[in-house]
Amino acid sequence: FAPWDDPDETPLIRFQNVSKRFGDFTAIDAIDLEIYAREFFALLGPSGCGKTTLMRMLAGFETPSSGKIFLSGQDIAPVPPNQRAVNMMFQSYALFPHLSVWDNIAFGLRREGRARDEIDARVGEMLKLTRLEKFARRKPHQISGGQRQRVALARSLAKAPKLLLLDEPLGALDKKLREETQFELMDIQETTGTTFVIVTHDQEEAMTVASRVAVMDEGRLIQVATPDRIYEAPASVYVADFIGDVNIIEGKAHQTGDRVQVDWAEGQPALAAKTTRDFSLEQTCYLAIRPEKVAISAEKPSGANVLSGEVLDIAYLGNLSTYHVKLPTGHVIKAQQANTRRIARRPFTWEDKVWVSWTESAAVVLDR
Ligand code: ATP
Repeated sequence: FAPWDDPDETPLIRFQNVSKRFGDFTAIDAIDLEIYAREFFALLGPSGCGKTTLMRMLAGFETPSSGKIFLSGQDIAPVPPNQRAVNMMFQSYALFPHLSVWDNIAFGLRREGRARDEIDARVGEMLKLTRLEKFARRKPHQISGGQRQRVALARSLAKAPKLLLLDEPLGALDKKLREETQFELMDIQETTGTTFVIVTHDQEEAMTVASRVAVMDEGRLIQVATPDRIYEAPASVYVADFIGDVNIIEGKAHQTGDRVQVDWAEGQPALAAKTTRDFSLEQTCYLAIRPEKVAISAEKPSGANVLSGEVLDIAYLGNLSTYHVKLPTGHVIKAQQANTRRIARRPFTWEDKVWVSWTESAAVVLDR
């Protein structure tokens, strides 16, 4: 059971036809979006697509040019940023350098004039949650980057916001620490039950941490779905290409029921795929096939979607290898194969004549 599957639950956040213009530039273009309580939601997209602007409107640092935003069913337009049950954690962390870890975490609670006992208890809880008990008396410059990141998180959760906005929260960490911290972030989100909305341009990060992902481009939401739907059933070539590696083959559609035959090159048999969409006759369409769904073999396999080619390039990645296979048509198909056994390592080499193939259900047919 996932809370966002419950149709009766009021969404925690609702964007209703929200646009944001800066002068005559449209940064956010008529967005409708619902985010539910306890979700870990990621806004993903290239630089300048409007992720931060969307988040700043939630925090109250920007006002929509048109449309409405609701928090727990209430229009938040009249509510100033400091009165929203929303907190934002910045990429820079913005910790106070002269204050200890303890005082940094307590800062917001003190400013609200909470009772001393309550502050002590809450800070203790936050230190425990973020495994910082040992560092409570240190100053930010006396701890590591990863620990500083956890202080920032503890501080933003101290007031128990309903919604925590995280702008590139792991951007300052190196790759390894970043990956570890992703799991920590997921644990903390689950433990506290706070709704997290994270902004990232890193697709792997979004896919790892989030229960749902919104893929954005030029101020629009292109697809909002769970990570596996985004990967397995991308809504467009843009999404397929943005998330992970993919082969894209352009052609003309000939549909019969749920089956599409795609003419893609002179003198080559059509490629077949299943679809739930409708394509008009000869409509330009794109087959998207993930490299790990392309089989590569020395012998010609039976069935549809079998093409011959020659190994052009090999990327050895340890647990798997990616082969770039050049077809007589000039297309290059990427096929990924697991290196399961030592003797199976690189079973093919440069200039080998090979066959690439995939099943009808392995390809997704898309329009632009
Ligand atoms: P990044 O990943 O680089 O942070 P982003 O997706 O978060 O990008 P935004 O910061 O939301 O993008 O910006 C979206 C667009 O709106 C950009 O083209 C940006 O230049 C523009 N923009 C943002 N804030 C303003 C502003 N105050 N005045 C004018 N244009 C702005």
